[in-house]
Amino acid sequence: MARSTTTEAVVLRSFRLGEADRILHLYTQERGRVGAVAKGVRKTKSRFGGRLEPFSHVELVLHQGRGDLDTVTGASLIRSHDRIRSEPYRLQVGMIGLEAMLKLFTEQEANEKAFLALTRFLDVLDESPLRPGSRAALDPVVLSFQLKLLWVSGYMPHLETCVECGSTEPLVAFLPAAGGGVCASCGHGGISLSPEGVHGMRLLLHSPIAAAPTAGLGERAQRDALAVVTASYEHHGGFRLKTLSA
Ligand SMILES: [Zn+2]
Repeated sequence: MARSTTTEAVVLRSFRLGEADRILHLYTQERGRVGAVAKGVRKTKSRFGGRLEPFSHVELVLHQGRGDLDTVTGASLIRSHDRIRSEPYRLQVGMIGLEAMLKLFTEQEANEKAFLALTRFLDVLDESPLRPGSRAALDPVVLSFQLKLLWVSGYMPHLETCVECGSTEPLVAFLPAAGGGVCASCGHGGISLSPEGVHGMRLLLHSPIAAAPTAGLGERAQRDALAVVTASYEHHGGFRLKTLSA
């Protein structure tokens, strides 16, 4: 039966469809991941204006027909996030966040925590400091966001005690298969971790995304966090993010 839902949503990706239409990959508050068609969106006098660009946080009316794709029948802007789209460094950081959502949350199933993390990430990125010359993949805001998404997905890296023996000795490596850090006695193989890296990841896991820019993570800590995030994606999800290797 055809029906309509009103929901907040973030546009993750958008493709042209024919002359005037677009296909949107959305992450919605009410139904999780949804694919939708926006008709006439590329006409100059479109009723949707520029509201359905990637990063846009919108309120949508979605009509569910018989096909796989919903139809967008109404759209109002909550936050445009133009500041992300119009600045190259923020855009690169933002694209990593959107790709992480696309790969981790593929089901049409509401996940309030994932939606909240996504909207917070975009809000913080609008205001976060630019780091010219620094790799977007090492940005503390997007590292914090991805650690939160791993947490919400049930893959939070265990970094409190040694995941093998339970000891509280310093952690020296990360074992992707075990999903956590290990002490020196258990640390055979795995990804080596610095004390700054362990400290930095604990800090990011236990503080809001908004605190990430001022968490004071050094480059080594950022690299360790990136290695743990990448290994967790590969081991648990079987994927890599293209935007992280840029
Ligand atoms: Zn151990």
